[in-house]
Amino acid sequence: MRAFNYCRPTSYGEAFHWLAGADQLVVPVAGATDLIPRIRDGLLRPDVVLDIKDLPDMRALTPTDGRLTSGEGVPPGLYVGAAVRMNELARSELVSSRWGVLAMAAASMGNEQVRNRATIGGNICTASPAADTAPALYVLEAAVCIKGPDGDRTVAIADFFAGPRKNALHRGELVVGLTIPQPPEGSIGHFEKLSRRKAGDLSIVSVAALAVRTDAGYRWRLALGAVGPTPLRSPESEAILSESLTDEAIDRAAASAYGCCCPISDIRSGLEYRQAMVINLTRHAIHAVMAQMPTP
Ligand SMILES: Cc1cc2nc3c(=O)[nH]c(=O)nc-3n(C[C@H](O)[C@H](O)[C@H](O)COP(=O)(O)OP(=O)(O)OC[C@H]3O[C@@H](n4cnc5c(N)ncnc54)[C@H](O)[C@@H]3O)c2cc1C
Repeated sequence: MRAFNYCRPTSYGEAFHWLAGADQLVVPVAGATDLIPRIRDGLLRPDVVLDIKDLPDMRALTPTDGRLTSGEGVPPGLYVGAAVRMNELARSELVSSRWGVLAMAAASMGNEQVRNRATIGGNICTASPAADTAPALYVLEAAVCIKGPDGDRTVAIADFFAGPRKNALHRGELVVGLTIPQPPEGSIGHFEKLSRRKAGDLSIVSVAALAVRTDAGYRWRLALGAVGPTPLRSPESEAILSESLTDEAIDRAAASAYGCCCPISDIRSGLEYRQAMVINLTRHAIHAVMAQMPTP
């Protein structure tokens, strides 16, 4: 593997100083589970790898009433620092208490070794359509907190994914964390993934469903991964399910999910199989949520 320099800044000033260097390629790294294979395979040739894990609040996993320990303002809900690892999310009682769909997605990722290193920031920054936390973050309507030399900004998760391996970051910017609104009490989420093997493989199709509790019943959100250039929501399926949960409505919702996908064939699956699995997995996710609803 080609040699590179490694640095581990502890302040954003130092990090942005490195990232501004015009004469060398400086690439951020967190868990390195995606970056190192890319460097090894010659797809990327950084001069400097900039480890972001020691930057302030990168490891924060905390309910927020609007303020971080650093004093920075964020919306109420859950704050997840970009360098929080998959196993931390999967095993957190806090995350499971209200944001269980995210804990399920994190638990489904890779294998034990990968989950011990891979971070949520790295997962979304790869902008892979198959990034497993993405459908969960889509239904939770998370926002991505970004810091750059010109200041801070926040981008809705659905706007962060710009295409295969393309994200909304400008040159020199870092993802510092995500804010996730708290779903109302009684909301129910589920994440479902199909891959070639039970562990250590990317999704052929993934589905996240969230039934958001309202006074009148539930408002549904449904998102899919690995079946388009970016993860996507299926608004028509959501409207159908929010209206009715009969067998006929569930079939129509699954058919609508199929309709909004544009999958491709790749090494993990042919196109036709993927399309068929969108319908199966969507139905499965809906039934899994319904099974947790209190009986009237
Ligand atoms: C064996 C194996 C199995 C895998 N299985 C899965 C799976 O089941 N599901 C899945 O979704 N993924 C899987 N992956 C892919 C990968 O592990 C995940 O995408 C992981 O979450 C990446 O996180 P990381 O912290 O390791 O990212 P890194 O490798 O550190 O970084 C990934 C990319 O994001 C950039 N980056 C990282 N953090 C930041 C930041 N804060 N700001 C700006 N840019 C940043 C880096 O520059 C790099 O381009 C697998 C990988 C392996 C090797």
